[in-house]
Amino acid sequence: MAKKPHILIIYTGGTIGMVVDYKTSALKTFNFENIYKNIPELKLLNCSISSVSFENPIDSSNMNLSYWNKIADFITSQYDKVDGFVILHGSDTMSYTASALSFMLEGLAKPVIFTGSQLPIGDLRTDAKENMITAIEIASIYKDDKPLIQEVCIYFEYKLYRGNRTTKTSAEQFEAFSSPNFPALAQSGVHLKFNKNIFFHTKKKQFKTTSLKNNNIILLKLYPGITEEVVRHILNTPNLKGVVLEAYGSGNAPTNKWFINLLKNTLKKGIPIIDITQCVAGSVALGKYETSAELLKLGLISGYDITTEAAIGKLLYLLSTNTKDLKTAFETPLRGEIS
Ligand code: ASP
Repeated sequence: MAKKPHILIIYTGGTIGMVVDYKTSALKTFNFENIYKNIPELKLLNCSISSVSFENPIDSSNMNLSYWNKIADFITSQYDKVDGFVILHGSDTMSYTASALSFMLEGLAKPVIFTGSQLPIGDLRTDAKENMITAIEIASIYKDDKPLIQEVCIYFEYKLYRGNRTTKTSAEQFEAFSSPNFPALAQSGVHLKFNKNIFFHTKKKQFKTTSLKNNNIILLKLYPGITEEVVRHILNTPNLKGVVLEAYGSGNAPTNKWFINLLKNTLKKGIPIIDITQCVAGSVALGKYETSAELLKLGLISGYDITTEAAIGKLLYLLSTNTKDLKTAFETPLRGEIS
């Protein structure tokens, strides 16, 4: 590439840009301009950088579909003007946003790298600087005149992950994220080492964004002793459009008649039920045990080794695209989210 790559930073909020309110000792968001003051090293990177910020930066616990649509729309409006995107986001729901965005941005051929931090940028021991500097550096790498990374990722604590494979597993360690069913795409040590043969490359020629419609979906996590009353109430939520069922082990669930009948009635109403596992690692295998054989017969959709975060993003995405055969579409890997 003859000219320096241009990276656009989108600041949405999160600890990375927070300061302590000395009156209450609580962390609150602050003006994005301070991020530059705190990282003058950004000027040393071999790329040009511009930035935009949410007018009112948010703690990512307040993340929702309209913010996701806003981020996707903004990426679309800048897509032809810049070479890559780094999105600063709170770590709490970063895996949900990265997963949803991976589906919403179809035919992506540029890097969209999420990062954040466990400690505020102004803190002496902060992890924010390394996360942000390396995320920008990775986003600006070109190979054969194309961006090296062409997918939605999370960079955190020396590792680059496929975003829709991640989950936040620590509120304490700097290594806040895990990708239990898929290896890291890159590791940052003395050198940046890339695992190039597992990168995702789109087959689509055209970049296209889908906005998510606010569909009523439910995440139902099973636990021993869950009652008929509770499950009936949840599955009879008015205007329900889909269910992500967090089942046990390889997708197993109780075999009680009442439970099976409630699932049957839900499916009869045309409401899809996705079977995913509560296990951190491994895959659903419907029919492997007697406790999932009936679920297979009923027509539950297998989430295979998808994360909860990606299952929610994928379901919202497919419901927003009016996909006819949702079962086939869900069971097909769309952005490298299932193995
Ligand atoms: N509560 C913060 C957030 O997710 C935590 C973080 O940024 O790491 O916005």
